[in-house]
Amino acid sequence: MKALVKTQKGIGNIEIRDIPEPIPSSGEVKIKIAACGICGTDIHVKNDCFPYWPPVVLGHEFTGEIIETAKDCKTFKVGDKVVAEPHTKACGNCYLCRTGNIQICSAKRSPGWGIDGGMAEYICYPEKLLHKIPDSMTWEQAAVVEPTANIVTDLLERTGIQAGDFVVVQGPGPIGLIAAMAAKAVGARDVAIIGTPGDVELRFAKAKELGLNNLINIAETDPVKAIMDLTNGLGADVVVECSGAPKAIEMVPDFLKKMGKVCVVGLTGGKTVNINWDKFAFKVATVVFNLSTFYTSWDKAISLISSGRVPAEKLITHKEPLENWQKVFEDIEKLKALKAILIP
Ligand SMILES: [Zn+2]
Ligand SMILES: [Zn+2]
Repeated sequence: MKALVKTQKGIGNIEIRDIPEPIPSSGEVKIKIAACGICGTDIHVKNDCFPYWPPVVLGHEFTGEIIETAKDCKTFKVGDKVVAEPHTKACGNCYLCRTGNIQICSAKRSPGWGIDGGMAEYICYPEKLLHKIPDSMTWEQAAVVEPTANIVTDLLERTGIQAGDFVVVQGPGPIGLIAAMAAKAVGARDVAIIGTPGDVELRFAKAKELGLNNLINIAETDPVKAIMDLTNGLGADVVVECSGAPKAIEMVPDFLKKMGKVCVVGLTGGKTVNINWDKFAFKVATVVFNLSTFYTSWDKAISLISSGRVPAEKLITHKEPLENWQKVFEDIEKLKALKAILIP
């Protein structure tokens, strides 16, 4: 079968290869991949700045239809359309696994970097990590369940956004825009999005299309003043930090409401942030760090997308056959793409 493979360590080293079709082991199903989203992780593996074990097929944001099941599979059957939690190889025995946190088990090796992923014609996958999607759901919608599940975990489940909250999103990439849509879907009073000049052409334009109108370009508008004006001088109830930019992070307590919450989603890539600790203390802030997805977030994400309340599929700007991967990866890195999916 055709697969997009990171062949060895180093920058680049990605090619389409013909590899043997996988055979389901005990507890696994074989899935015919219908689409696979490209995530920041895939770009990091390309650029050699994320752990991975080559040769490895890229991609963890896949969806498809089950075409075969191992004899001992109990839950899923041939014909089911599914999405998959990327928590493969979690040990099941450690403190984290035993407390229901398989997503951060240190033995976890996800598809796309730890084991062969979804940028291929087929994948064999443990049925215990699958979620069934409704027949009414399109493959485009299914392909954005994983990033949406991240926001459900981070913003809805862990940060505990409330109806009536004023929400600020920093960093309007796909995850930031999903956060903005999810905030609206659960009753946020309003949402403001902070970005840089590079965000204006594609990302702000998409935000407008989605009905998100408080768009703050830091090169033109002072974000602190703008947020204070929008909130009668009180500040934001919730700040969703998706930029990973130290300068943006340092500014957060200046427009956070007292008792406000900060939902940390973006990583800085190892850069140090000069936090004024006391500013957070005087705001009596709750800062919630996040990584990966809870089991419970997946069916909620499926419901939010399939009901149309979070139309995350509208972020898809590129839908290309696997062969065109190179151009699509380039467009993502040049900020010419928002969400991109590959069709094997
Ligand atoms: Zn992802
Ligand atoms: Zn474990």
